[in-house]
Amino acid sequence: MGLSQEDSTARWQHLDHIRKTKGPFNPPDDEDEEAPEMLDTLGKSTILVIGAGGLGCEILKNLALSGFKNIHVIDMDTIDISNLNRQFLFRKADVGKSKAECAAAFVERRVQGVKITPHNCRIQDFDEDFYMQFQMVVCGLDSIEARRWMNATLVNMVDDDNPDSLKPMIDGGTEGFKGQTRVVFPTMTPCIECQLDLYAPRAAVPLCTLATIPRQPEHCIEWAHIIAWDQEKPFPSLDKDDPEHITWLYQKALSRAEEFKISGVTYSLTQGVVKNIIPAIASTNAIIAASCCNEALKIATTAAPALGFEDNYMSYHGDEAIYTNTFKYEKKEDCAVCGSLSKPLEVDPRWTLQELIDSLATNASAQLKKPSVRTESKTLYMRFPQSLEEQTRPNLDKTLREGLGLVEKQEIAVTDPAFPALSFKFFLRFT
Ligand SMILES: [Zn+2]
Repeated sequence: MGLSQEDSTARWQHLDHIRKTKGPFNPPDDEDEEAPEMLDTLGKSTILVIGAGGLGCEILKNLALSGFKNIHVIDMDTIDISNLNRQFLFRKADVGKSKAECAAAFVERRVQGVKITPHNCRIQDFDEDFYMQFQMVVCGLDSIEARRWMNATLVNMVDDDNPDSLKPMIDGGTEGFKGQTRVVFPTMTPCIECQLDLYAPRAAVPLCTLATIPRQPEHCIEWAHIIAWDQEKPFPSLDKDDPEHITWLYQKALSRAEEFKISGVTYSLTQGVVKNIIPAIASTNAIIAASCCNEALKIATTAAPALGFEDNYMSYHGDEAIYTNTFKYEKKEDCAVCGSLSKPLEVDPRWTLQELIDSLATNASAQLKKPSVRTESKTLYMRFPQSLEEQTRPNLDKTLREGLGLVEKQEIAVTDPAFPALSFKFFLRFT
């Protein structure tokens, strides 16, 4: 059952007024020919949405209802029953199916004239040629690694001689009652990597705390997860999606918590800690997705100033009453993606190379899990190929200053398979 032509015109009447009427914020037109179609860039632009989860469902619905006609969506996940409370484009019958495909089909059914192309795969499965077809990218992701990859790809794609190679990236993120919206004009304004230290990895709890003096319910759960599971091996391998496995961990954690008189261990907390789940609140997703889509609409139509060159970061705090602020995040000259300088890396000269490598995972401005390291003249440790790994493995036990002869301010380059296009440059600062 579709809308008649008249209904459809009426539906877009007010939006068309914004889209097709030149306003004070539209750029001056050299030829002074303000044909309405010239301003109707929405209908012609192709926009990419990354993620069809909590934020993605909202973003797809909002973009379609804002008049974007040609949308693509990438998501590799399938629908889980636990998604249904907030990912409103999915129904019980969709459990097990592709998020991208179901979300695209639902919005196409409801909003006449919109074409949504789903891609049930990883963003890393596409190359720059694929990303080149879009005018803009809107990210609704819960993974920092995916954001970093997308950001690095968009920055690398910029070709100064081709203005179409610059793809604005609008990024939304939420965590419980908090959220943020940012807009990146790759190479021109601070990128996601410039802002990486805002996402400091959660400090790891020392193993000795887990083993001897737990203080919080999370410590008891981590103890069950890391220590008890290993000792007792109740199942051949841990499947974090298997309720039986989570129940085993929950009961272990609960008895440990009782022993140390700690309260607060629940089944859902166990699941959250083990799966590292960020709590999702549907209304926070709605707020952040709405602000992302308004920025997309303004960038596409130039109807009003958008986040970007001046203020580029909106942060929303709903955890203590309600507070929103918008500010200009500065570009970093030592950003691994868009900067040219190397970053300082604080290390103890008595550390082994292994300790330096371990520190890169928790260092807020690196967050690299599988790094390979070299200096300008020497390969210190390479994970691939295997022959090089074997050859460089003995270096892992050598100390930085005595064993490897590294000096203060030594430049090192670090690569990681998660970001194949990047080389992270650091210089050592001895502590
Ligand atoms: Zn940057």
